[in-house]
Amino acid sequence: MTVIIYWFRNDLRLADNPAFVEACLKADQLVPVYVHDSKEQESVYGFERQGPYRQTFLRASLDDLKAQLQVQGSDLLELSGKSAEVLLQLVKDTAAIAIYCEQIEAPEEIEQVQILQEQGVDVEEFWQSSMLDPQDFPFVLEKMPDVFTAFRREVERAQLKFAQPIDAPKQIPMLPAVLPRSSTLSCNPQSESHLHPFFLGGATAAQAHLSQYLKRRLPDSYKETRNQLIGRDYSSKFSAWLALGCISARNIAAQINEYENRYGANDGTYWLWFELLWRDYFRFIHFKYGQKLYRASGLTGVPVKPSYAPSFEQWRSGTTGTALVDTGMRELHQSGYLSNRMRQIVASYWIYDMKGDWRAGAAWFESQLIDYDVYSNQGNWLYIAGRGTDPRGGRPFNVAKQTQDHDPKEIYRKLWLSPQ
Ligand SMILES: Cc1cc2nc3c(=O)[nH]c(=O)nc-3n(C[C@H](O)[C@H](O)[C@H](O)COP(=O)(O)OP(=O)(O)OC[C@H]3O[C@@H](n4cnc5c(N)ncnc54)[C@H](O)[C@@H]3O)c2cc1C
Repeated sequence: MTVIIYWFRNDLRLADNPAFVEACLKADQLVPVYVHDSKEQESVYGFERQGPYRQTFLRASLDDLKAQLQVQGSDLLELSGKSAEVLLQLVKDTAAIAIYCEQIEAPEEIEQVQILQEQGVDVEEFWQSSMLDPQDFPFVLEKMPDVFTAFRREVERAQLKFAQPIDAPKQIPMLPAVLPRSSTLSCNPQSESHLHPFFLGGATAAQAHLSQYLKRRLPDSYKETRNQLIGRDYSSKFSAWLALGCISARNIAAQINEYENRYGANDGTYWLWFELLWRDYFRFIHFKYGQKLYRASGLTGVPVKPSYAPSFEQWRSGTTGTALVDTGMRELHQSGYLSNRMRQIVASYWIYDMKGDWRAGAAWFESQLIDYDVYSNQGNWLYIAGRGTDPRGGRPFNVAKQTQDHDPKEIYRKLWLSPQ
């Protein structure tokens, strides 16, 4: 009897999940598990790494996954603790021959797998979180172009758009007769007060969101509206579902491609693909630079003065006195989401106006954003701080100009700064 553990990480879906399909094919008995890692409770800067909006979105995503597994006669085991320790124990308890999972190329996640491997566990990792398959590239990832535009040109020259998504497995192997009890102590139950009105977690909600987005022909206006600040429709809002893998980037790209076949390609559909390519790019540079992306100096070698208090408190609580920045920081804290333009403005303000440590800013985003994604967060912060691959060496934003360009009538500021 071949027992395999399937470790769900940031791939909380059954459709287009090659690692899960492979595990289903190889196993006689399959143990689907999610581990609430205790690192999420650690606090480096004095706040939790996984804030309440993230927890609520995760909870809904896991409930949806569990329900889908149960429909097929399986289930989701939830365990809490240090991932490697918990999984090691599970391997012993179930006599599993291997753990199958998605590959995550960020330092903490790499370490989790290394610990398991050092203990003799066979961990089968699958790269599956990008829109493109790196095996199709005309270059090896270690030599990929540093600059995004050069990367995009190479991708376009090779006529790569997206890798084809695959179906969910037809059958899921049964569970072993005896399993440890679930422990979800570290994940709060869904809290209505921390539910963002646009984002309900889970693969079912992800698919429903994408369908309505396409049905309402919103891709057509995406390029014109994407830098706006208010509302559900100015940008796609795919990010939170992508971050937890409730839907794959390939699946979204394939559906946008179908949309183009039906209605014709336009600037909006191209620009959506272009932004998804940014997402891929920040993933792939991890293969080239790895741990270096997590140094204070990033790729530059120029050290950062680790200064983040007390101005950090003003920044993160939205009390700097600069109205647009304070509005953005309040929206982030009170909703778990922020438009791309506002993310750029508040990050720039923290780094260039308040002379703060970019890593503290990135940590606050990690705690707050329901779409927190290690690659995109790290990549964008490094980019703005001029410590990544940006040939311009940093992106300071002029707040007065941004206010004039994006909130001339004070509508956004009144929305979030007015007394609750
Ligand atoms: C400082 C900073 C931190 C960020 N942290 C995150 C993060 O933790 N998680 C995250 O998903 N995005 C992050 N972003 C990127 C971007 O702001 C969000 O992806 C976007 O605002 C999400 O909203 P949307 O889905 O409506 O995006 P849309 O504008 O509709 O874009 C479509 C998709 O393209 C991808 N995308 C768009 N812009 C970017 C970008 N600049 N970098 C990478 N992917 C992009 C996302 O997957 C997004 O869902 C960050 C940006 C900045 C400036």
